[in-house]
Order: sequence, then C-alpha cells, then structure tokens
Amino acid sequence: MTVAARAPLHDLAVCGGGISGLALAYLAGTRGVADVVVLEGAGRPGGKIQTEWVDGFCCEWGPQGFLDNVPETLALVAGLGLDGELVRADDAAGDRFIARNGRLRKVPLSPPAFLTSDVLSLPGRLRVLLEPFQRRGALEESVFTFAARRIGREAAEVLVDAMVTGVYAGDPARLSLPATFPKMRAMERDYGSLVRAMLARRKSGGGGPAGPGGTLTTLRLGMQQLTDALASALGAGVRLGVPVERITRGAGAFAVRLGDGSEVAAKQVAVAMPPGAAARALGELLPEGAVAALQGIPYAKVAVVMTGYRAPHPFAHPTRGFGFLVPGRERRRILGSIFCDATFPAQAPAGATLLRTLLGGARDPGALDLSDGELLALARRELDHFLGGDPEPDFVRIIRHDYGIPQYTLGHLARLDEIERAAAAIPGLHLLGNGFHGIAANACVVEAERIAAAVAGGA
Ligand SMILES: Cc1cc2nc3c(=O)[nH]c(=O)nc-3n(C[C@H](O)[C@H](O)[C@H](O)COP(=O)(O)OP(=O)(O)OC[C@H]3O[C@@H](n4cnc5c(N)ncnc54)[C@H](O)[C@@H]3O)c2cc1C
Repeated sequence: MTVAARAPLHDLAVCGGGISGLALAYLAGTRGVADVVVLEGAGRPGGKIQTEWVDGFCCEWGPQGFLDNVPETLALVAGLGLDGELVRADDAAGDRFIARNGRLRKVPLSPPAFLTSDVLSLPGRLRVLLEPFQRRGALEESVFTFAARRIGREAAEVLVDAMVTGVYAGDPARLSLPATFPKMRAMERDYGSLVRAMLARRKSGGGGPAGPGGTLTTLRLGMQQLTDALASALGAGVRLGVPVERITRGAGAFAVRLGDGSEVAAKQVAVAMPPGAAARALGELLPEGAVAALQGIPYAKVAVVMTGYRAPHPFAHPTRGFGFLVPGRERRRILGSIFCDATFPAQAPAGATLLRTLLGGARDPGALDLSDGELLALARRELDHFLGGDPEPDFVRIIRHDYGIPQYTLGHLARLDEIERAAAAIPGLHLLGNGFHGIAANACVVEAERIAAAVAGGA
C-alpha cells in the first residue's frame, strides 16, 4: 500500500486571485505571514482587472482607475515600487455630461452654475434648493426613495440615476442606500441635510478632475500593472488554473479541494471569490442561512464596447471631458461613454479619440445576449444620437462581464451581517472581495489590509 505524501500546511490559502486576493496575500506577507498560496481558477491573475494595448490604444477590460484619496491603495502601490508609475486624470477630464431629453448637458460643478444650468428644469432645480428642509428617512431605504425625498423626483431621476449608473450600472430603486452610499446616509444623520454637509465639506477642501474627493488615477501601463506587480511579488505563491471547489475544516487545518481533485491544506483560509462561487465552496462549512445570503448578492451584467478613431474630432460634440452618463428615463440603450483619451491622453495615439461605451447593467441585462456585431452597431447608433456622427472606428474591442458589478440591493447589510457572523464562528476563515463592503478597487485594498491584520494576528 502506498501512502499519499502529506500536503504541506500553508499559513494561509487565498481563494481567488483578483485584486482582493492578491493584495491580501501580499499584505499578509509584509506582516510576517510567511507561507501564503493564492489559488486562482482562471489562467491569469487579476480578475476583473485586465489591460490590453492594441496599436497604441489602451483597452481596460474592467476598472479604468481608482481615486487617489485612499491611503491604503497608495501605500500598496508605493510598497511595490510603483509610485513613479502613477498617472492622474488630465485636467481636461474635469467636465462631465449627463443626457437629458436626448441632449448632453454639462454637469454643473458649483452652486451658482447649478442654478443657471439646464441639467434640470427650473422647478427641478428649485426643488433641490428645498433639500435642507426635508425630513429624515428610514434606516434602510432605496437610493431612489432617499434621493426623491431629499432633492425631488426629477433630480433623483436625472442626477442620482446617472451617478448610480456610472458607479454600479444599477437600478437606484433596488439598491440599498446605507450599503451603497453610506456617506450620504451619514450626511443626513450628522447634518440633517446633504446641502449643509456638502457646504461643510467644501470648507475643508477636497475634489479633483474626474472624481469627487480624489482624482481618478491609473498606472502608466494601465490597471493590470498593479495586479501584475502583486502577482510577480508573490511569485510561485500564485497558482493559476486551479478552481476551488470545496473548503472544509479538519483538526487544526482547512482543506481546500481543487477542480483536479487535489487538496491544499492551510491554517487559515481567505475566500476572495465572488459571493456565488464562495457560496458553492463554503456549502459544507457555513450554515444554510449564510450560504443563502451569499447567493442572494446579485450581479449586473456589463458589456464594454471600446472604439478608437485616428481621425481628429470624429464627432460633432467635442469629446473633451470625462464622458457622459445616460439616466434610465432617457430610454436609451447605453449607460454612458467615457472619453478615455481626454482622461488619460497616453492611452491613445496622439490626436486619436478613444471611447469606452457601457451597455447592459441592471437596466438592460438583455444587451449581453446580442452578438458582438449587434453590440457594436447598437453602441455606434447611440454614440451617433448623443455625439453626432457615426465615424468608422479604427479600433474595436468588445468585452462582456456576465458577473460584472455586484448589486448591494435592499437587505444587503442584513445579508452581510448573517454571512459575517457565521464566518466569525469559524476561526481562521475570512471573506473578502467587492461583493461585500464596497465595489471599487480601493475598497478591495482597504478590506485586504484589514484582513491581512486579522490573519497576522491569527484570528
Ligand atoms: C466594467 C467594469 C468597470 C469597473 N470600473 C471600475 C473603476 O473604474 N474603478 C474601480 O475602482 N472599480 C471598478 N470596477 C470594479 C473593480 O473591477 C472591482 O472592484 C475589483 O476588480 C474586484 O476585485 P476582486 O478581487 O474583489 O474580484 P474579482 O476581480 O472578480 O476577482 C475574483 C477572482 O476569483 C476568481 N474565482 C472565481 N471563482 C473561483 C474559484 N471557484 N476558484 C478560484 N478562483 C475563482 C476569479 O477568476 C477572479 O480572478 C469595475 C468593474 C467592471 C466590471
């Protein structure tokens, strides 16, 4: 009889090698957790973060950047020796546009500009002025209910819908305010009014091109430079093409079963996979209620259509600025389009225009059923509608995310509570990723830092 060689006992196994898992593995290492293995199902590290360069056009599959106002991300970048590689959005990206009644309107950036802007009707603007006099709301309500109560229905349908579209590709009537925009709930709680809170914030400074409270930032080679640097710092500690199927716990160690039937043993396990995959892997370890809560975190499908044009000024409407968003009430089929070359000039050849048009989202999941040709034709029709002109693109890339952006719908905080109470009852088990406490790359790094500290402390 042959005795199978005992699997080495790692200090930490991280399941999922997106930015959450890679950052956790790296940060745990810097805190003295010596033997860390990352188990990634796909054939490449980085998850949603993927950058492709074609003939001088930069194609970001997922995030385009992160706001430079989160110290944890900047410290991570500096720790990897990449601070000289940071690229901040150009000042030209300061202008943003919102579609209203079929036309793009500049988003006003100051109270006087708002009063004279055509982004809302006059009654809509006057209703916003009544914001300080509105009553407080329930502890949990949808983003739409909150916004309509505080700033009126029109501003909710135009301004807030556009913001939710831009960040979540989501439906404001289904998203939970305290889970998605906790700062707004806090502003109402602490100041009784968003206007009063914003005035107080303006006094203390902040803000920059392409991002309230920070400047949109990427790296010279694109976002993948960050995940590539993490993966190469981790070296052989990153295993690719090894989907995690089941996580169980025996005497003093976790066993992680992989797709090929082999097992990895570790003293602690961190699950940095999307909640649906986490639910499948943790089915034997977590109680039914927590598994159902994980399964209850839905995702919006998103398609990204990248189009590049070598001819200068290919559209009637100038594509200077960050880009434009299209609220649901416009009844159009794109969520918006980002003017990539204006935001990050080095991401397109000199004089060229690069647009990143988003389709799908909670509003229009059926868009992902279209063929590539149909998606491109649809994006071009919509760009023609808003920007004027249908120039032939010199560069096209179509990217589909069937599990694009997690939706923190009503009840999200209760689901999180159930999941986290169950996980806390199993010492050494950790959950992270953008399905839980924040959908942006910055939030992933903040969570990774918090969990690295817990892992190092042996929790
Ligand atoms: C189109 C788009 C645009 C975005 N734009 C921005 C932006 O501009 N700024 C911003 O901050 N954020 C943006 N985001 C969000 C950002 O991409 C995420 O916050 C971040 O990349 C999520 O990282 P993660 O590691 O938590 O998850 P993921 O990147 O999803 O990583 C999870 C990993 O787990 C792996 N996995 C899944 N199942 C298994 C399994 N069974 N076994 C092993 N591994 C498994 C996956 O292959 C993946 O690598 C955008 C997202 C999308 C889709």
